[in-house]
Amino acid sequence: MTMKVWINHNTKEISVKTAKNIRQKLEAAGFEFDKKNPDLAISVGGDGTFLSTFHEYTNRLSQMKFIGIHTGHLGFYADWRDNEVDELIEALKNYDGQTFEYPVLEADITYTDNTTKSFYALNEAIIKRPSKTMRADVYLDGEFFERFRGDGLSFSTPSGSTAYAKSIGGAVIHPKSRVMQVNEIAPINNRIYRSISAPIIVPSSQEVKIIPAEGSDYIVNYDTNSRTNCSVKLIKYRISKEVIQFAKLRDRHFWGRVEHAFLGTNDYK
Ligand code: NAD
Repeated sequence: MTMKVWINHNTKEISVKTAKNIRQKLEAAGFEFDKKNPDLAISVGGDGTFLSTFHEYTNRLSQMKFIGIHTGHLGFYADWRDNEVDELIEALKNYDGQTFEYPVLEADITYTDNTTKSFYALNEAIIKRPSKTMRADVYLDGEFFERFRGDGLSFSTPSGSTAYAKSIGGAVIHPKSRVMQVNEIAPINNRIYRSISAPIIVPSSQEVKIIPAEGSDYIVNYDTNSRTNCSVKLIKYRISKEVIQFAKLRDRHFWGRVEHAFLGTNDYK
């Protein structure tokens, strides 16, 4: 059966050019193009573009695969380079359907008017209160754990651990681990107020429930998406049963990519 492909790209000239080049070469090789129901989404840009591509297709994650090509600096999801297009096309022509998977996070939010919304995140989901101290009760696996006071809380996937979570003191987690990392953002800790003040790693079988003490004025983020002025009654975060599947066209070493991105001493191929 012919593979149906869609290419999503950012507006940078180099990305537009690269996407056009890939499309022409794939069309010549007999691939079909289908924006709504692709078997494979190719993202051309950076990690931000890849995150947008992921959010385009969260309703059909089990039915499709992803590939990321970067046109700027080497990305974590966009790990093919724009000068490797010919190699990529050849690999796709001979593709045997193998994949590797990364965990995805999901969250259910109930607003104070009792309306609900669910969303996925590939990097992280964050709740924060910019105007005043966020005070919220944190429940781990159904049990009360702590009253948090501070700027906010971040919930990240293993592949998101090298993104925002790392900047706020989180651990780098290999994406083969099906866990969610919870990080406090600027927690208030003194003689009166106390919270764990360390990253917490939650297994995929458990969820974290957050009940804010005051309902209004929250920012709810998931990857590149942000909702402001949210009045939140509760949010539940967990590792989803859904995963993101990447087309495995060559072997990639996660720790090598981490080293290349943050230390930069080794050559990463
Ligand atoms: P963006 O697209 O400009 O990305 C910001 C940087 O984060 C880029 O350098 C990108 O390559 C990198 N990045 C994204 N995902 C990554 C990952 N999984 N591992 C390592 N690096 C990664 O910013 P945006 O569109 O506002 O947000 C996209 C993502 O960027 C967010 O999900 C968040 O994790 C991250 N971010 C991090 C910070 C921070 O570290 N202080 C601030 C804003 C956004």
